[in-house]
Amino acid sequence: MPVHLHILISAGPTQEPIDPVRFLSNRSSGRMGYALVRAALAAKHRVTLVTGPVAIKPPEGCRVIGVKTAREMRRALLRHFPTADVVFQVAAVADYRPVVNFRKKIKKITRTLTLKLRRNPDILAEMARKKRRGQILVGFAAETHAALSYAREKLVRKRLDFIVVNDVSNKAIGFESHDNAVVVIARDGRQVRFPRQPKTLLAQRILEVVLL
Ligand code: C5P
Repeated sequence: MPVHLHILISAGPTQEPIDPVRFLSNRSSGRMGYALVRAALAAKHRVTLVTGPVAIKPPEGCRVIGVKTAREMRRALLRHFPTADVVFQVAAVADYRPVVNFRKKIKKITRTLTLKLRRNPDILAEMARKKRRGQILVGFAAETHAALSYAREKLVRKRLDFIVVNDVSNKAIGFESHDNAVVVIARDGRQVRFPRQPKTLLAQRILEVVLL
């Protein structure tokens, strides 16, 4: 593998509009993905970052594509996927989006309101189907229980090379925290466990395991 790779990284949540003033989203801060961008840049790789809306600034020195919805994220990732050597799909893609994006603000007239949702495309599974020889795909799994068994199932079902698992039921780590603790599972079943540490350090460790 060449020393300087093109690394495609997604980060942050997606926002799925309900009407002009509301959206569905999740608690992703983007910190883990942005830390991976920094680690990859420090190792002199070329980085493309596809990012959902986050409160933190993207690192300098990478190409940044800002997106809001899962469908925009899909388009941006698929555009850059063909030239990527490694993909870290860290983004917390919303699983569902409202079927209707109302043009006008929904008024509070009724006592109950039902929103109909539609499944979003699984971007990672789609990249895996389009994968060419030599490309490495890394997924992330945030779980609240039975983390390892769910993650192993995803690794196989989505045909990934690695999956990075974190237990988001632990409030001290994960989503909005600066720290995280993860297990990296490789396709061959190999597992590397990283104890709680800053996401900046963890990003370097994850990069080492994947590029080794
Ligand atoms: O949501 P899930 O646990 O299936 O996420 C596992 C991996 O799949 C993550 O890397 C996530 O970014 C990716 N994913 C995706 N498109 C979706 C849902 C998840 O790329 N619609």
